Amino acid sequence: MTTSTQTKPAPKWDLDSIFEGGSSSEAYQKHRNAVKTRLETAEKNIGQLQTGIDDSSLTTWVDFILEWQSLGEDIELILSFAGCLTSQNTTDDKADAIESEGMVYYSRWQKIKATLESLALQQSDENWNKFLDHDKIKEIQFYLNEMRDLAKSKMPVEMESLALELEVNGYHAWDQLYSKMSGELKVEFEEDGKTTTMSLGQLATKMSDANRDVRKQAFEKMVGAWESRENLAAMILNSMAGFRLSVYERRGWESATYEPLKMSRMEQKSLDTMWKVIKDNLHRLKPYIDAKKKLLNIDKFRWYDQFAPCGDAEKQYPYDEATEFIYENIKSFSPDMAAFCKMAIDKNWIEAEDRPNKRGGGFCTGMGKNNQSRIFMTYANTYENLLTLAHELGHAYHSWVLNDKAPFAQSYPMNLAETASTFAEAVVTDAALAQTEDTQEKLMLIEQKLQGAYTMMCDIHSRYLFDKMFYEKRKDGVLSTQELKDLMVVAQKEAYGDLLDESGYHPLFWCSKLHFYFTGAPFYNFPYTFGFMYSGGLYDQAKKEGATFSAKYDALLKDTGSMTTEELTKKHLGVDLTQEAFWKGAVDTALADVDEFVKLVDELS
Ligand SMILES: [Zn+2]
Repeated sequence: MTTSTQTKPAPKWDLDSIFEGGSSSEAYQKHRNAVKTRLETAEKNIGQLQTGIDDSSLTTWVDFILEWQSLGEDIELILSFAGCLTSQNTTDDKADAIESEGMVYYSRWQKIKATLESLALQQSDENWNKFLDHDKIKEIQFYLNEMRDLAKSKMPVEMESLALELEVNGYHAWDQLYSKMSGELKVEFEEDGKTTTMSLGQLATKMSDANRDVRKQAFEKMVGAWESRENLAAMILNSMAGFRLSVYERRGWESATYEPLKMSRMEQKSLDTMWKVIKDNLHRLKPYIDAKKKLLNIDKFRWYDQFAPCGDAEKQYPYDEATEFIYENIKSFSPDMAAFCKMAIDKNWIEAEDRPNKRGGGFCTGMGKNNQSRIFMTYANTYENLLTLAHELGHAYHSWVLNDKAPFAQSYPMNLAETASTFAEAVVTDAALAQTEDTQEKLMLIEQKLQGAYTMMCDIHSRYLFDKMFYEKRKDGVLSTQELKDLMVVAQKEAYGDLLDESGYHPLFWCSKLHFYFTGAPFYNFPYTFGFMYSGGLYDQAKKEGATFSAKYDALLKDTGSMTTEELTKKHLGVDLTQEAFWKGAVDTALADVDEFVKLVDELS
């Protein structure tokens, strides 16, 4: 890729073809009014639905389920549209209002689901299976069965509904309180003789500064800020866990990982096997960390050294060249996916312009029955931006492949959500590596790859281990701030092995990482590593198989919303996830460049 100094701005997306007129759109209002009317009808109809499914009520049941499914898709479109509007302009008040009404519709839709769950429970297996066998229902069997099975392992419906209501001001409020508290934390940061007041979010970018003093100061200021709130954070964490454990006990769920594993549609055994293989191969990261220490000229590798950049991070990657680059390189792996990327780019499905009042980060969102996606990001010509673009295009392709499925058969679990995105990143990174002769750029690219593997294998593992141990101990009572700190260090020692120096742990990590406080999904850690390793395993197979793999890949993506993770992998890859072989291949892929990194560092010193 060439470097050019004059680049035209990255493009804006087209939302008008979805609903013309942004947050004042009349087309949107029409859609919203229709959803409202249909919701009222569905709420009325569910009350009149015959409790038992038999020959006389079968058609009514089928129609109701299909309408409820369709309504869900249309409500999701409202939320997606609102998400796009609020992200493209954070000062758009009307967009906030659309988001709020979308959430109200969604919670009403969920209430219908709760009633359906209880109705599903009342059916005999025979009648239920007959219903699932109906031509129009077959395709969404998995979703409906999952709903019924999960309802079986819950409390009686009245108690579940009370718990759900109490969650709003109890459980979820802890999450909100934590976000508010961390949002309000500020530090005084000193750089180049100036003192600047920073939020913790701003401070985080200093953790990957090339200057070690800057990184160290950023880390210490962050820890200092959290020390002033550690007892409050401990209280929140203990209370949230207490809430969960009480509900789990009432439901008869013995393990704290029961719920997150259900959400990931996978077995504990697969997860344990993955972590075991990671632990067994941890030592293979040592040469990478040693080389990085050598390059950075440091003797003790500490928390604040993990994200230090290597090689040339200054190189520019203009948008037009990036899209061309992604297209060309995806093509050699999958012509279909490349054609899709080109279409998404040409049809302006991507919001990439670098301008004020945009939200940070990136995402990809579906557009309901339009069978389209929209990608949001800010493209500022860095390599990271190029990777984000490839990543989000991967998500969009995943949705594209699922387009001809019914909505419920399109909804895949969170551990599989990152399959296509991470895969696209891997393809693009390897292509970039293969095409550069520049040592500094090579170093930067390989380091990014290895840093990703290191984070997934160590950082995320330590979060999982902490959660596991914490929930076990929490069953016997509240843990003190000191006990939480000690537990965090135990988890880090286990997960990092000798990669981090004894003086380099981060005992307050449970304070600073918002994922521990996220009530949307408990144990919101292992799906990251799982997704990363899973797509690594796929990539490993793709490289071995060559041209024939892309059809297999599409077939796998198509089934991500219709079966368990184990079934999916067995069916399409002939692989048993509870066995070590697949995970070993994934680790080999993740660490393939360690030797090259070491060699490059040696050449430079
Ligand atoms: Zn993603």
